[in-house]
Amino acid sequence: MLRGGEVLGRAGMGLERTFVAVKPDGVQRRLVGELVRRFERRGLTLVGMKLVQASEELLREHYGALRERPFYRQLLKYMSSGPVVAMVWQGLDVVKTVRTMIGETNPADSRPGTIRGDFYGSLSSSCRNVIHGSDSVESARQEIALWFRPEELVCWEDAAEHWIYS
Ligand code: ADP
Repeated sequence: MLRGGEVLGRAGMGLERTFVAVKPDGVQRRLVGELVRRFERRGLTLVGMKLVQASEELLREHYGALRERPFYRQLLKYMSSGPVVAMVWQGLDVVKTVRTMIGETNPADSRPGTIRGDFYGSLSSSCRNVIHGSDSVESARQEIALWFRPEELVCWEDAAEHWIYS
């Protein structure tokens, strides 16, 4: 079913999957329900979700591309400071849709109505910005494989699919 980050919906359209994580500040601020609600209201389909205390090894792999950046150590410290809620969402063009819903990396640059724009956090010293979403179909595929075992992802019949996609 998973093919290069893509799955085929019943309507035969190319559906994508993306990896989303509510970061430790989002969990501590009790934002999990609000964030899940936003993705559900957008018509996206939840196919995996779990509360995880991420290991340093997992975070090093996840943020490997940023290891030369000055904030890297702080980022690992922040991401291991408490549990994160790891999720996989599915939908048409879902990688781009979720990135648009999240906003810019720096909450201060994010428009009101986006997640980071609405739930402001101070990025500069703390790296805190509430949520992560994969930035491409390829990184979504890698991140889903890193955070989830195949049997943790559930394919279920979406009774509302033809109302949203047809
Ligand atoms: P995004 O999460 O928007 O895809 P990046 O992949 O560039 O952004 O960075 C990953 C994470 O590293 C950010 O979400 C944020 O937590 C942290 N980060 C990025 N840039 C900075 C910075 N200039 N200062 C502090 N933390 C940063």
